[in-house]
Amino acid sequence: MEISENIKKYKAELGNEVTLVAISKTKPAEDLLEAYNAGQRVFGENKIQEMTEKWETLPKDIEWHMVGHVQTNKVKYMAPFVSLIHAVDSLKLLKEINKEAKKNDRKIACLLQIKIAEEDTKFGLDAEEAKELLTSEKFSELKNIEVKGLMGMATYTEDEAVVRGEFDYLKSVYEDLKKNNPHFEILSMGMSGDYQVAMECGSNMVRIGSAIFGERNYN
Ligand SMILES: *Cc1c(COP(=O)(O)O)cnc(C)c1O
Repeated sequence: MEISENIKKYKAELGNEVTLVAISKTKPAEDLLEAYNAGQRVFGENKIQEMTEKWETLPKDIEWHMVGHVQTNKVKYMAPFVSLIHAVDSLKLLKEINKEAKKNDRKIACLLQIKIAEEDTKFGLDAEEAKELLTSEKFSELKNIEVKGLMGMATYTEDEAVVRGEFDYLKSVYEDLKKNNPHFEILSMGMSGDYQVAMECGSNMVRIGSAIFGERNYN
């Protein structure tokens, strides 16, 4: 199927309640433009240099989401334009984002990444760590960031029960933290292979790449 048809199909399926982030990493600008011309305005990338190059060449009303792991020394390159940073997993990184946001005289929206998969990935906080971070005095001093919710990635498996269990868990952590965090409004979970389960579990932002743009050769 054409990229433009895929965009229309997903937009119709997701409706107004769930935001579609079109994950365009590794794909050329013309593919993004095709999605843009079909009405898509939110794109997600996982490499800062690639995202910056695309931001420079593509229409300026695109919202750019950073969905990959972020190194503190790279924050400055996206601080002028990034709309949402999905995978924040330390106070150190939040402080850096806050510093660069301030330099650019703006507030940057972030999500905390919660580790929910069985796989032993390096990234993500557990629920307790997220709670501690959000209630710390250091965090309350950061005025140029806004933590708007959580992001998580389920185990890569055909076993739907495992995926569902992990998304249910993330949803419960989200609801718990939301009680004391009035800015919480985004629960980013679900990718090409598991977005339907994620939506059933309460996701309101899905990150879909290969199902829109086709398989990637790397990443
Ligand atoms: C690549 C990526 C996606 C999209 O994956 P697909 O399986 O191609 O939909 C979603 N989220 C993150 C964090 C990614 O890195």
